[in-house]
Amino acid sequence: MEYSAVTLGRMIQERKVSVAEAAKAVLQTIQEKERTYHCYVTVCSEESILEQAEKIQRKIDDHTLTSPLAGVPVAIKDNMLTKGIPTTCSSKILEHFIPTYTATAVQNLEKAGALILGKTNMDEFAMGSTTETSAFGVTKNPSDPSHVPGGSSGGSAAAVALDECTYALGSDTGGSIRQPCSYCGVTGIKPTYGTVSRNGLVAYGSSLDQIGPIAKNVTDCATILQTISSHDPLDSTSYPRGDLNFTDHLTCDVKGMKIGIPKDYFGDGLQEDVKEKVLQVGKELEAKGAILEEFDLRFVKYAVPTYYVIACAEASSNLSRFDGVKYGYRTPENTDLHTMYKRTRSEGFGSEVKRRIMLGSFVLSSGYYDAYYLKALKSKALIKQAFDRAFETYDMILAPVAPSTAPKLGESLQDPLQMYLSDIYTISVNLAGLPSIAFPCGSDSKGLPIGAQLIGNCFEEHKIIRAAYTYECEKG
Ligand code: GLN
Repeated sequence: MEYSAVTLGRMIQERKVSVAEAAKAVLQTIQEKERTYHCYVTVCSEESILEQAEKIQRKIDDHTLTSPLAGVPVAIKDNMLTKGIPTTCSSKILEHFIPTYTATAVQNLEKAGALILGKTNMDEFAMGSTTETSAFGVTKNPSDPSHVPGGSSGGSAAAVALDECTYALGSDTGGSIRQPCSYCGVTGIKPTYGTVSRNGLVAYGSSLDQIGPIAKNVTDCATILQTISSHDPLDSTSYPRGDLNFTDHLTCDVKGMKIGIPKDYFGDGLQEDVKEKVLQVGKELEAKGAILEEFDLRFVKYAVPTYYVIACAEASSNLSRFDGVKYGYRTPENTDLHTMYKRTRSEGFGSEVKRRIMLGSFVLSSGYYDAYYLKALKSKALIKQAFDRAFETYDMILAPVAPSTAPKLGESLQDPLQMYLSDIYTISVNLAGLPSIAFPCGSDSKGLPIGAQLIGNCFEEHKIIRAAYTYECEKG
């Protein structure tokens, strides 16, 4: 079914389609396309999906479930815990792990009557930009299967683009919602840090991670974000916000809004047609009454090194819990405790994850802590200050999502450093805790999608939602 989430939800409420019919249609699409694109690590059994559908339908029929998302089929990135459904983080170390509880964001969806289809493929532990570091095979780009879908939420973005689900959840530590959205031609939001609970999200870089929606349009994203956001005592960094009514801001009006265009984001290394299409978004918003201005953001060149020091440091600590004792895989060798730890981790983690654990342990080690980790924290503060200054003048910032369109399969992994550099436009947003919406704005000469992002100040999702919605309205 090619309907957006809100449209399908409305049809379900109006009894034009039943939840079971919606479920069967999407299962049919999964069956047709999954072999080629491989968006999922786990698809729930037809039996359990139809059982869920029946329960939801009953509640809709007796009017206890009136949410716009009730009965709408959703896919969840495989780093969010789902009780009774395997959660692997696309890693061998969690291959047969079945959680005993469900992540708060997913619980919020369940309360709204979401129909969970399964778990989507991703880079192992969300480390990567292509979904190729998954231990369970690569996902292909919906526009051209010889290209990557982006990452790390590549399975979620591709599944939405291919109608293998109506919408999906992703997580974004340094761009993992926005960049695959951009490569696959769909829309996604990385919310302000603290808006969506991280309880039950397998931690990568805890100070950067946020869960967010991936969907077909801005209306869906605003509706989903409103549903999953909550203040959660189980996440100590969850923030009690009183302004979570994002759908109120779906208005086609940007008159007087000031949009900053950071010159540093449109220089060398940016693919020409990406630059052109992203700037075109600015022109269209200007035609609707927005005020555009170029400015120097500063400190952009420090974003990649700062991010990789901090993200790897936090990852090395977070991933120490995978030791063969508490969760998932344990080496079959019968040996002493320390060898068991070593073998389990050597056999269970893939090479990108190991590289980051080593890098993280190195920057946190006593001889190098000040030189690397502490320095990274200082430059993170400078990056945040640069954004604070920008938001004194501008309501939002327009930027590309990635320097190019989706690379070919196999190209990026040959050179990890090059891959890290391609995160240049997304990672500062996480370092500064800001919200950002990525949405499609055209395609390149090969027909591969191009994405733009609008970055807002903390707690100002409403502004970027309004501007992206205005752009979408204009495009029809
Ligand atoms: N590509 C970045 C990384 O590999 C971002 C990943 C993410 O946001 N999870 O760390």
